[in-house]
Amino acid sequence: MEYYSEVVPLPQLACSQVLCCNVYTSDLPFSLYLHIPFCKIKCSYCAFNTYINLDDLVEPFIQALIQEIEIVAASRPKHPVWTVYLGGGTPSLLSPEQIDRVLQSIRTGFDLDPNAEISMEANPSDLSRDYMADVCAAGINRVSIGMQSANFNELELFARRHDNDAVVRAVSAARGGGVKNLNLDLIYGAPHQTLKSWENSLDQLIALRPDHISLYALSLEEGTAMRNWVMKGRLPEPDDDLAADMYELASEQLEAAGYEQYEISNWSKKGYACRHNLQYWRNWPYPGFGPGAHGYADGVRYSTVLSPQRYIKLMREAGADYVFPRTPATEQAEFVDRETEIAETLLMGLRLTQEGIPRTAFAERFGVDLVEIRESLVSRFVHNGLLEVDSNSVRLTRRGRLLSNSIFRELV
Ligand code: SF4
Repeated sequence: MEYYSEVVPLPQLACSQVLCCNVYTSDLPFSLYLHIPFCKIKCSYCAFNTYINLDDLVEPFIQALIQEIEIVAASRPKHPVWTVYLGGGTPSLLSPEQIDRVLQSIRTGFDLDPNAEISMEANPSDLSRDYMADVCAAGINRVSIGMQSANFNELELFARRHDNDAVVRAVSAARGGGVKNLNLDLIYGAPHQTLKSWENSLDQLIALRPDHISLYALSLEEGTAMRNWVMKGRLPEPDDDLAADMYELASEQLEAAGYEQYEISNWSKKGYACRHNLQYWRNWPYPGFGPGAHGYADGVRYSTVLSPQRYIKLMREAGADYVFPRTPATEQAEFVDRETEIAETLLMGLRLTQEGIPRTAFAERFGVDLVEIRESLVSRFVHNGLLEVDSNSVRLTRRGRLLSNSIFRELV
């Protein structure tokens, strides 16, 4: 994120600097992100901060995570929290009892809304009805299952540890265990994927009637097996035009199946938009916990150490005083100045295809009208049919969604 104007090493982080944060956002309830850095195998496309063969570290990690939650909560006692998200990695490798302890620590330290959305990501192979019932009893009320594809050859290419039957069983286990809010993820734009195979994945997904759907365009990330295979010529380059056709096909199919698109990559049944992700797209505060987590609160954007071993050691050796949102695990922190905050709010808010950026909320937050500060660009995009502007909000048009990356580049 090259537009951060200032990178401040942690020892210089002083209370006076933190106190100049944006009052508009610091009064808002938090969304908490908890990063669970363990997986059973590494998928070929995955660049997330995850590790395999670290089973012995799971319990020490849980203890460290609870300690980090306690440290942050001590500096913002009983601050309201309205969403919690266990991501990773593979949170479904945790036992229900471990999840319960983590959520209890959040209830103790923060003011967790009784109707909070509490999500966990899950691998289809890990889910049984009993497991789901137990994690729901602990407080989980939304589950996101990594389906990724319904086609055997694509799942094999992705090095996923499940087949499509396992997804069907996982959905049944989740519903049977009491999950009322279920997301399924799919990946499109992969090497060798065809429009026909994509249509099959969409059909299978729709037949499972999830409440929420996330579609991710494959990105060849540095350090992944998939990128290496493409670089060495063992796999063809992903085809951007074909990926755009897949996206359009998905938009049509999901709309026909009764799903509303509310974000560039996300669709839901009415009332099932992911509240946790809305917090990111509105550029509102989300403290992050665990190794490799990113967080944003009180005008500071920060990240934690990547290594689970180092994370556990730092938390074990933790002293007493930390200036919010810093914890012993925080490795880098950047003050977000006003111009950057405006740029980020534009970048995130335009992803919301229906809500867009509400003009009144933007003016309350920054003291200026969004259309006025980007006047010539906004006029040009409106003239070219890429943006819609009315007195309530600024939104991408359907055509603008297809060209969103170039619009974002110009706006920020
Ligand atoms: S299960 Fe998810 S987090 Fe783990 S390696 Fe695969 S894609 Fe990455």
